Amino acid sequence: MKKSLVLVFALVILWMEDTGAEESDGFHLKGRTKRQIPKSLTVTTILEQPFAMTTDSGELEGYCVDLLSELAQALEFNYTIHVVKDGHYGSKDQNGVWNGMVGEIIRKEADLAVAPLTITTVRENAISFTKPFMQTGIGILLKKESSSGGSYLFGFLNPFSKELWIGIIISYVITSLCLFLVARLSPCEWAEPSNEQNQYTLLNSLWFGIGALTLQGVEPQPKSVSARIIAVIWWLFSITLLAAYVASFASYVNSTKDLTPNIETFADLLKQDKIEFGTLANSSTFNFFKYSKNPTFRMIYEYMDKRKDRVLVKSFSEGVQRVRDSNYAFLGESISQDFVAAKHCDLVRVPEIIGGRGYGIAASLDSPLIRPLTIAILEQFETGNLEYLHQKWWENTCTSAQTQAGWVPVQPHTLGGIFLILGIGLALGLIVSFIELVCKSKSKAVQQQKSCCSAFSEEIGQRFGKTENQESLEKVQP
Ligand code: ASP
Repeated sequence: MKKSLVLVFALVILWMEDTGAEESDGFHLKGRTKRQIPKSLTVTTILEQPFAMTTDSGELEGYCVDLLSELAQALEFNYTIHVVKDGHYGSKDQNGVWNGMVGEIIRKEADLAVAPLTITTVRENAISFTKPFMQTGIGILLKKESSSGGSYLFGFLNPFSKELWIGIIISYVITSLCLFLVARLSPCEWAEPSNEQNQYTLLNSLWFGIGALTLQGVEPQPKSVSARIIAVIWWLFSITLLAAYVASFASYVNSTKDLTPNIETFADLLKQDKIEFGTLANSSTFNFFKYSKNPTFRMIYEYMDKRKDRVLVKSFSEGVQRVRDSNYAFLGESISQDFVAAKHCDLVRVPEIIGGRGYGIAASLDSPLIRPLTIAILEQFETGNLEYLHQKWWENTCTSAQTQAGWVPVQPHTLGGIFLILGIGLALGLIVSFIELVCKSKSKAVQQQKSCCSAFSEEIGQRFGKTENQESLEKVQP
């Protein structure tokens, strides 16, 4: 009697521990449900980067492998993992027979499928899924257009903004005018205006500016200090401008490689015939298009169905390879496409994503494993561990491509300093030429015993008006 009382008491305590804890917190629930999990489980997965990949030593690694080891630790079970024999995710044939990981679960060849296996209605009717451990959608994977840089006839103008080009033209005209002025004012450049031709005519001054801008040393060479100041400043301006142009042009050419060939949406795929498109055979993506009522998606399905031998691929990696090697767009799950685009900088995923879906861990129908696994997955979410795993496996190695994407033409404010220096140089040249002329007028005034002012205005008159001597000179030297 005493013994049976103790037994009943112990049973009541055990029962209270289980039910009471279930109501209070998840940790104790885990304790109870842990006992429902067999000590050793067989797990199936599929080779898809970065979910499961084989290392050089033949072992498996990846996001799903890490996730499975976390779950096994939390729920205290051992496991053996293998890759699905037929390489499929799972779809039903006409006779109602399932292939892939779903088939293995149904035939009890595996207890769990830990893989990027999409939760769908048809699958949910045949097997059980945990709550999703990852959300995704359907995207388009494309090769970056490598030759689009050449398709812009006037692409060579793009390195500089419109405002900068206008600024350069204005600077060129002003500099040529200043040179023309200085060459007239400066006595060292034009000592005898009455019987000597000025080498810097307006046309020659414009020609000199162009020569410097294209790094072609052109005649006439300046002789006076003032004209030399202007020439040197213009040379410096030209060199800086050319360096900025070359650098910007190089990154412009690289950035145009990021342009996708005019495909930004699923509808764009149907509007062109240059690029073939397809998806994974027997996949949830293919079925999404098959059962969709959206007319665009129906047309995509009809296109793929008509050419199924040509456009459907057997594995995700085959799809990726086809995108890289030919004119092919791969429709697949965006999360996997993001991974390949982050590793292969020649690939890009277009921004449009359709058909939101999730990946879940699968077990046989009504399996007692589902609930503890769901709780363990939620725990992984809440502790930030899934976020950490995502960061670990989706690390981006295409940083250069990101930089190229942010390319912008050079703006006037970037080269503002060189415009300022040019302005100062031109002003300095004009002032020096003026001083040179004043000095010459002073000495002329002393020599000819005139006032400084009249000598100066005579000089100006000779330099900007046509004297009789000049006219006769022009007749002699056409
Ligand atoms: N994860 C998918 C599946 O379960 C594959 C795909 O649809 O691209 O079928």
